[in-house]
Amino acid sequence: MNKNIEIIQPDDWHVHFREGDMLEMVTNFSSRINKRCVAMPNTEIPITDTNKASSYKELLERASNNNFIPLIPCYLNENLDLEDFRTGIQNKVFFGSKLYPSNATTNSSHGVSDISKIFKFLEILEEEKSPLLIHGEKVADNIDIFDREKYFIDDELSFIRKKFPLLKITLEHVSTSYGVNYVKENENIAGTITPHHMLLTKKDVFLDDAINPHHFCMPVVKNETDLIALRNAACYNNSKFFLGTDSAPHPIQEKKPDLSSKPGIFSSPCSIELYAEIFDEENAIDNLEIFCSINGPKHYNYPINDTKIKLEKKEWFMSEFSSYKDIQVKNFYANKKINWKVAY
Ligand SMILES: [Zn+2]
Repeated sequence: MNKNIEIIQPDDWHVHFREGDMLEMVTNFSSRINKRCVAMPNTEIPITDTNKASSYKELLERASNNNFIPLIPCYLNENLDLEDFRTGIQNKVFFGSKLYPSNATTNSSHGVSDISKIFKFLEILEEEKSPLLIHGEKVADNIDIFDREKYFIDDELSFIRKKFPLLKITLEHVSTSYGVNYVKENENIAGTITPHHMLLTKKDVFLDDAINPHHFCMPVVKNETDLIALRNAACYNNSKFFLGTDSAPHPIQEKKPDLSSKPGIFSSPCSIELYAEIFDEENAIDNLEIFCSINGPKHYNYPINDTKIKLEKKEWFMSEFSSYKDIQVKNFYANKKINWKVAY
């Protein structure tokens, strides 16, 4: 049955736009739908000061539609210039700050290995009511890849929250039922959920003697129980979870069938459609707008957008690649049928 819906224009609170030709190629996929996007600062040279943030914002504005607003968090590490950080937060050059535990994902080797060394920055965030965005994984030789989120929550996040109880925190790309429960049960914390964590389980990534690199991301997708917990969190009675695709493109030559592959799933050509599909499957299409367009701005104290988008229930197939100049990126959901489509 054909059905059209209209929702308030969404925002994507977690996207990777990269740099150079890749940035020029992918920015439009996100700005076609979203009014605002949080552009992740783990570029090859991470965005660690106000100058870099301002020029990155300009690049994104140039590569996107007219009314699109990129928001840039500061990439936290212990060597930031404290006064530049403070000014950037106070003047909203930075959209809060992003914590990458070192080596947890792409370009995170400049990240944080000892949380106590960044307390002076967290103090500023708390004072200025500016958000801390977290890649919540603890990486250590003795921690299984599937347990990284739980260890981060127990060992580091609980510690941060105790020390800075008023700090507004976003646990990005929540990937486990443990993470869902933690966000639900605690104050001043919300979470983003990607489409792929609600569509894939580890069986789609870890094959007999190889991995599927196009389903490989950090945090890795988990078990079916986790997938169900994430769907429930997004689709029903939800005021704490919102849209963050973590769309993270890599050229196909950087995708390898083993763990040396660059992690990241490129979903922005179909992300809003996949969210619609998931909500429809869960008989919760009426709650799509709350997740995509309301909970995020509420958490961040931003105005809810006053424009709308239309989605039609109509079958189409996602193309296999997105290409531009010499870059080719494999699209998430390549060659698969999707039942919703944005109407332009
Ligand atoms: Zn990310």
